[in-house]
Amino acid sequence: MTGTTGMTGTAGMAGGKRHLLIGGEDIPARRYVPLYAPYSGERLADVAWADEAETDLAIRSATRAAAVMRRLPAHQRADILGRLVAALAERREEAARLIALEAAKPIAAARAEVERTIQTYRFAAEEARRICGETVPMDAAPGGEGRIGYTVREPLGVIGAITPFNFPMNLVAHKVGPALAAGNAVVLKPAEQTPLSAYFIGELLREAGLPPGALNIVSGDGRVVGERLVQDARVKMLTFTGSPAVGIGIRSRAGLKRVTLELGSNAALIVDGGVDADAVAARCAVGAFSYQGQVCISLQRIYAVEAVYDALVNGLVREAAAIKTGDPLDPEVGVSALISRSATERALAWIAEAVGEGAVVAAGGIVSADGVLLPTVLLNVPESASICRKEAFAPVVVVCQVRSVDEAIGRVNDSEYGLQAGIYTRDIGTALRAVEELQVGGVIVNDIPTYRVDHMPYGGVKNSGLGREGVKYATEDMTEQKLVVFNRGTL
Ligand code: NAD
Repeated sequence: MTGTTGMTGTAGMAGGKRHLLIGGEDIPARRYVPLYAPYSGERLADVAWADEAETDLAIRSATRAAAVMRRLPAHQRADILGRLVAALAERREEAARLIALEAAKPIAAARAEVERTIQTYRFAAEEARRICGETVPMDAAPGGEGRIGYTVREPLGVIGAITPFNFPMNLVAHKVGPALAAGNAVVLKPAEQTPLSAYFIGELLREAGLPPGALNIVSGDGRVVGERLVQDARVKMLTFTGSPAVGIGIRSRAGLKRVTLELGSNAALIVDGGVDADAVAARCAVGAFSYQGQVCISLQRIYAVEAVYDALVNGLVREAAAIKTGDPLDPEVGVSALISRSATERALAWIAEAVGEGAVVAAGGIVSADGVLLPTVLLNVPESASICRKEAFAPVVVVCQVRSVDEAIGRVNDSEYGLQAGIYTRDIGTALRAVEELQVGGVIVNDIPTYRVDHMPYGGVKNSGLGREGVKYATEDMTEQKLVVFNRGTL
């Protein structure tokens, strides 16, 4: 394992090289690029950087495997996923360390991601046994007499999965789990910065007895590997999680392929009067600063009524100051480095822009000696500022005072995004009004918008996406409905 640290038992990593996974084999690539840890700058591995021909090989392999997968009985698909769950549970600490290293995810959060990944695959194993169609009452229409109608759900074939860096194991699980549960084969293109977590799962699935080629992993440039998946007619569905710019571009080029898009947001929370400001502030800190705010439903905007505003700001500033920053492998660290230096510079530029327009920095706003952007609380930010309107993807939260919950609802909705929103209120009527009026894919009452468990339907409206994940919903999306009608009449 020369040139690598902290990675043991990774079969496809001979000599610190991470090969492609195609057809169940570790396939050497023509080119490798070094992968560095975002926090320490340490070289973690040399990772295969696939070209078009290597991507083509993976699609060919998946096409062959799709024929095998569609004949694999549900109980066998469920058992394979079940064995993956057991293996991941066994190697959970190794998995967490891998995420912490390649994504600079604080180890506590990395462990939480592994636990959620286990849940996601467990749900997928269960879902594999539940896929079914329905009977159709044919005689409900004139001319339907004497016919028996029912539907079956068939796998689509080859699914192209493109994933982001921020949940490198669980967001892969949200695509690979449902795809295999439904009897498909997958070509997975992990994010450039976080391929190792994906390959780790690939190895566990191989050991779990997945038919060769049912999961192919092709690391490389999104514009080459990803684009090939988008253009290739053998790929029947694209499931993409990532930034809106890339996702919207994919959709526009995907033709008639099925496409699901899980994109970004500037998630907001409304805080009504009469709530426990300290308790809400503690949850807000979790929502805004977990994994440095690099979460699609990270809490970015808080709209608090006057009665609670001061106490909430004070509580949040206290919480921000109490977070230890630094090395992601330190179990006490809550905030580490952003994924890249350019991400840090962009966040700093947006903070400076807001300050230039009159914003006040109540906490953070600067980068520590070891390159970590400190948890930042901004007040008096004009709505037009980038840090409000765009997706911050950094440990930055904006707190605004509003005259009423109705004003807050309007300001939450004044966004190009709509993934999830939260509201704290003791008034049931106010909660129901917010549920009705908020333009988002999910409303969380009395908690932060960052709340997610892995079986709930999850996805956005507006520029936050198209379609829903959550294992049951993704599994259904990854099947085609086929209608069967039997004529009982004599031939
Ligand atoms: P990104 O869009 O830069 O990259 C995502 C993936 O797309 C990567 O694998 C990348 O290689 C690939 N890609 C890049 N260009 C491509 C192209 N032209 N064709 C095909 N694929 C291409 O996103 P990121 O920086 O890795 O992730 C952060 C973004 O993901 C944020 O916007 C965040 O909100 C979003 N996200 C959304 C969800 C959700 O469920 N809604 C979850 C996590 C992250």
